[in-house]
Amino acid sequence: MTADSMENVELFSSEGKGRGLKAVKEFCAGDVIFAEPAYAAVVFDSLTAHVCHNCFKRQEKLQRCGQCKFAHYCDRTCQKDAWTNHKNECSSIKKNGKIPNENIRLAARIMWRIEREGTGLTEGCLVSIDDLQNHVDNFGEEEKKELMADVQTFTDFWPPSSQQFGMQYISHIFGVINCNGFTLSDQRGLQAVGVGIFPNLCLVNHDCWPNCTVIVNNGNHEAVKSMFHTQMRIELRSLGKVDKGEELSVSYVDFLNLREERKQQLKRQYYFDCTCEHCTKGLKEDLMLGVKEESKVPCNVPLTKLPSSQGVAKEVIQFSKETMEKISKARSEGAYHEVVKLCRECLKKQEPVLADTNIYMLKILSLTSEVLSYLQNFEEAAEYARRMVEGYLKLYHSNNAQLGMAVMRAGVTHWHAGLIEVGHSMICKAYAILLVTHGPTHPITKDLEAMRVQTEMELRMFKENEFVYHKMREAALKNQPMHIMPEPRNNSISSSIFHKKQ
Ligand SMILES: [Zn+2]
Ligand SMILES: [Zn+2]
Ligand SMILES: [Zn+2]
Repeated sequence: MTADSMENVELFSSEGKGRGLKAVKEFCAGDVIFAEPAYAAVVFDSLTAHVCHNCFKRQEKLQRCGQCKFAHYCDRTCQKDAWTNHKNECSSIKKNGKIPNENIRLAARIMWRIEREGTGLTEGCLVSIDDLQNHVDNFGEEEKKELMADVQTFTDFWPPSSQQFGMQYISHIFGVINCNGFTLSDQRGLQAVGVGIFPNLCLVNHDCWPNCTVIVNNGNHEAVKSMFHTQMRIELRSLGKVDKGEELSVSYVDFLNLREERKQQLKRQYYFDCTCEHCTKGLKEDLMLGVKEESKVPCNVPLTKLPSSQGVAKEVIQFSKETMEKISKARSEGAYHEVVKLCRECLKKQEPVLADTNIYMLKILSLTSEVLSYLQNFEEAAEYARRMVEGYLKLYHSNNAQLGMAVMRAGVTHWHAGLIEVGHSMICKAYAILLVTHGPTHPITKDLEAMRVQTEMELRMFKENEFVYHKMREAALKNQPMHIMPEPRNNSISSSIFHKKQ
C-alpha cells in the first residue's frame, strides 16, 4: 500500500498542541499512512563525497557533477533527477568558488524552490513553507547570534540575479530549518547523512508513546532502473491499530530516557512542554529507575550501619553518569579497549543494586555489547546484548523501530558467536518488528529476511547434528573472515528525529 497523496489524513486543531493530523479511516500495524518526498534536502558537509545528493544512499563509488565538482550522484539517473534542485546551487558554487555549509545550502534550496513555484501551497502539501513554525521568538541570545550569522552568510552566497527576500523572511526559513529539519539516514538506516524539510510531516505532533513512526525510504531504482526511478521519501507508518479520527503522532525523541530528560530535550529543541500520557503519569518511570529488591532491604547488616537503599542507588547512578562521560570520550578517540574496561567496572557496581530494566544499566549493556562486537568478541558481546534486549522489551512499545534495530544487532551478535538458536529467534523477532516499522521492501528488512533464511538453515543443521554444525562453522570461519561490525559511533541516530545543529 502506498499513499503519496494526503487523502488518508485531515488537518485539525489539536487541543493544546495547535495544528495536528488525524486519520480519516482505520489503519493497521505497518500501514503507510502517507509518503512524502522532500520539499528540499541536502547532504551533511562531512559526507558530500560519500552520499548521493539525490537519493541519499551511501555508495562506494559516486560520480561528480562536472560543473561544480561538488555534487555527487550514484549515476546519470540520479544526476538527472536532481538537476532541477541543483541547477542554481551549481552555478552559485561555481561563481562563489566556495561551498557554504549544509544549513545555508538547505535554505538556498528552499528559496530557489519558492522562486520557481511561489509561496503558496505546493501540490500534495497541506501546509506551505510560509505557514510552518519558526520559533524565532523563543530563541535565546546564543541562538539569535547564530541566526544572524546564518542570515549574513546566506546573503553573501545568494546570487543577485535570483529573487530577493527580506531579512525577516530569511530568518523565518532558518527558524523553520532549525525546528523542522528532519534527519535523513542512509539506505540501511545506520547513519545520519543529511537533513530535509517535509511540510506534511511537520504537522504530525509528538507523543513519547506514539501511534506512528517515520522512516526514510531511499528508493529502489537499482532493481528497476530501466523502468522507473523512485525518489527518496519519508513514510509515516502506523505502529498498531489506529482508529478513524484518532490523532497521528510520532516521537521526536528516543523513549529510553527519563521523563525529565525527554521533557528537557523537547523543550530545548522544539520549544514545547510534553503533556503526553507517559509524561503526565510517569509511565515506565519505575522500571527505568528500578532498583533490585534485595538491595532495598540489606540482610545480615544492621540497617543503621548502611546508607538508605535510595542512597546506594543514587550513588551508583551518579557513578554511572560519570563513567558514561568517560566512555563517551574514550569512544570518540577510538580507545575501544578502554571503553570495555570502563563498562565492566560500571556494571560491577550496577549489578548488585540496579534492576535489569534500569536505563543506566541498559545504556552500559548496549555500549558494552556494541564495542565487544566490533572487537569481534562475540561470545561476551552476546551475553550483554541478550540482557539489553530483555530490558528493552519491557520498556519499549512492542513495535518500536529502535527496539527492532537493537534486537537485530543482538541477533547478529548471537549468530556470530555460534549461538544459533537464540540468534535465529532474535532475528525472527527483529524481522517481525521491522516489517511494521520499515515495511517489507526496505533494504534492512530485506537483509533481515536473508539472515532469517540463512539462520533457519543453520539451525536445522545444528539440530540434526550439533558436532557437524560446529565443525562446519569453524571451517567456514577459517576460510572467510567474519563480517566486521560497523565501528561504534557517537552520533547516535536515534536520539532525535529532527536534525538540530550542534
Ligand atoms: Zn542516487
Ligand atoms: Zn553541479
Ligand atoms: Zn511525553
